Amino acid sequence: MPHRSETESRKLLGRLREALAADNAGQERLDEVVALIADSMQTEVCSIYLFRDAETLELCATQGLQAEAVHQTRMRLGEGLVGLTARTRTVVNTADAPAAKGFRYMPETGEERYSSFCGIPIQRLGDVLGVLVVQSKSAREFTPDEVYALEIVAMVIAEMTELGAFVGEGAALSARHQQAVLFRGSVAQEGASEGQVFLHEPRVVVTNPISDDPDTELARLRTAVETLRRSVDSMLTGARSVDADQIQVLEAYRMFANSSSWIKRMEEDVQNGLSAEAAVEKEQSLSRARLGKAADPYLRERLSDLDDLSNRLLRILTGQGAAARADMPENPILVARNIGPGELLEYGKKLKGIVLEDGSVGSHATIVARAWAIPLVINAKGITREALNGDTILVDGDQGIAHLRPDDTVHAAFRDKISMQARALERYASIRDLPATAKCGTTVSLQMNAGLMADLPSLAGSGAEGVGLFRTELQFLIRNQMPRRGELSALYSRVLKAAQGKRVAFRTLDIGSDKVLPYMKPNDEPNPAMGWRAIRVGLDKPGVLRMQLQALLRAANGGPLTVMFPFITQINEFRAAKAEMDKAMDRETVLGHPLPSSLEVGAMLETPSLAYAPDAFFEEVDFVSIGGNDLKQFFFAADRENERVRKRYDTLDTSFLSFIAHVIKRCEKAGTPLSFCGEDAGRPVEALCFAALGLRTLSMRPASVGPVKHLLRRVDLREVKDVMDNAIANGDQSVRRAVSDWLVYQV
Ligand code: PEP
Ligand code: MG
Repeated sequence: MPHRSETESRKLLGRLREALAADNAGQERLDEVVALIADSMQTEVCSIYLFRDAETLELCATQGLQAEAVHQTRMRLGEGLVGLTARTRTVVNTADAPAAKGFRYMPETGEERYSSFCGIPIQRLGDVLGVLVVQSKSAREFTPDEVYALEIVAMVIAEMTELGAFVGEGAALSARHQQAVLFRGSVAQEGASEGQVFLHEPRVVVTNPISDDPDTELARLRTAVETLRRSVDSMLTGARSVDADQIQVLEAYRMFANSSSWIKRMEEDVQNGLSAEAAVEKEQSLSRARLGKAADPYLRERLSDLDDLSNRLLRILTGQGAAARADMPENPILVARNIGPGELLEYGKKLKGIVLEDGSVGSHATIVARAWAIPLVINAKGITREALNGDTILVDGDQGIAHLRPDDTVHAAFRDKISMQARALERYASIRDLPATAKCGTTVSLQMNAGLMADLPSLAGSGAEGVGLFRTELQFLIRNQMPRRGELSALYSRVLKAAQGKRVAFRTLDIGSDKVLPYMKPNDEPNPAMGWRAIRVGLDKPGVLRMQLQALLRAANGGPLTVMFPFITQINEFRAAKAEMDKAMDRETVLGHPLPSSLEVGAMLETPSLAYAPDAFFEEVDFVSIGGNDLKQFFFAADRENERVRKRYDTLDTSFLSFIAHVIKRCEKAGTPLSFCGEDAGRPVEALCFAALGLRTLSMRPASVGPVKHLLRRVDLREVKDVMDNAIANGDQSVRRAVSDWLVYQV
């Protein structure tokens, strides 16, 4: 078995560097690369397959197979041994390829004569760009040394592909990061905007994957590792007093930063001719591939620690920093894998749009984006790989689409859409001060949802009559430590002042589920949405609830106050929460502080059980507000954050509407005011149907007030109700189709 020395690898990389530096067309370069590898590895065949699109690999260059097959032979991801290498992101090494599972015979390449096959994924940071293949007639498995040498070469090819080195004449290969790409995601916040990509985590660009001086590179790598170790140590010293969980993470970082096997592997890569950056990336790619396959959550977490550490090391080596607000382009469209509400708030309202690779409709970052009325597309798979800082991007929040580097036709159509929206906004502004009175004379009170001080200016601008839901947890989520009572009451008092006498319904802390406070130990619950959350936490550990109630009473300062408790499922929970309010008032009286001039204490109906509570509940509660986001997830047993199941169930489903009608009836019987404050209240057709059923207060994000009012004012709710009843009598699953068809002739 041939032993491959470091010198041979370095020699090959040296020749590759010359080939890549030559002023050749892209295809010529690629042809030379395969010839050099075949020669150095002493194999009859060397081929490079690159992705044409997400699913198809194309033979782009070969030494040894039929030349006519180049740019003709294609295979799907997972097809044949080449497709298998790409799909599994692992080396496929076999002495008897035709007998191997998955082998596909491709007559046009003449490949049946070759017995051994070794496929190496060409990957960069876990992103597979193609496959490097060597084949030979003699039946032998390639040695670990040879495979290692090929991995090093594959790394260089990945970097050069990324840099566009193989693009150009005759290559039939389009440059990465240059062509127009359309991303189909999901709608999280409507609206359209145009701007430039601003990456939350910018890609590190490596321009020098091959080194000619391993000693210098080794020294660079060691210095960078030293800097990294020092920075982890100082983070650890800084965190000492703060919190145990953070320290645990940093300890894991330190362990990796001092891991001799990680560093040894990178040093070996450098000794074989890679630059320090390329060595870090090579190891990072391998660990990302492992991350993709690891099922064990502990292992996944450790691998992502290592990934983060590699990023830090790359930034130290290249001097390329993390995203900074100062680098924002003029019309920044934030592109990120995911983002927490705190980080989003740091960027501020200057953002013109947001596109997330993951994300979910019910998450808090989404709620912040909605409050700001910034178009948001989620589930745009692959966007963080494709987008580069500064690329032109169009965000179509209505369709859940992002156009990256759009062509002129798309651009022009999009501009038309933006100007149509501007005209619609003018229309909404003209009815801002008019009531939401339908043609039948029924008036619906439209209120807005808020959670930040920054939302309050929208109260006047949107035409909302009050704040139907103030989510107090956002204040808790955006901090690193529990806010103090004094801070909270100052904030609540500013909110009340900004509302200028309009009613604000403060909802007490709703944590748990997806809202995990950074400074509280997360509960390891199998089902957090149905776990220890909201009022359950408030009643079991009443310290925070008491502090919050006291802060609210102080903020009211003798004026009116409205408070509601989240996630009430039973009369007893409401009574216990109300008793906390009574106690808080007693304490305030003892302390000589004024009590509110009027106090309303309500409950959020977010689980079906509360709709069947005893009559006494509806009589005792001052008002009920339907939290449709949670209610819907429990009604249909469909996780509000799981896009796959969430979309199966329509809010206008007749079962759900008949449930809402039941709640309306119970409140009417007791004379208890009822509102709806889930996201659905802000969708015009849904709002219309709720109003037709009898809901008289709807609370929504500020940007929805105009469109909902506009529609309500143009219809007769009795007619809407008839259309709904007919659809139900027809046995329709949902009334959406019937109502939408009817609307076409009304507005
Ligand atoms: C709801 O569940 O509908 C609601 C308004 O509360 P949140 O979205 O904050 O859970
Ligand atoms: Mg809720």
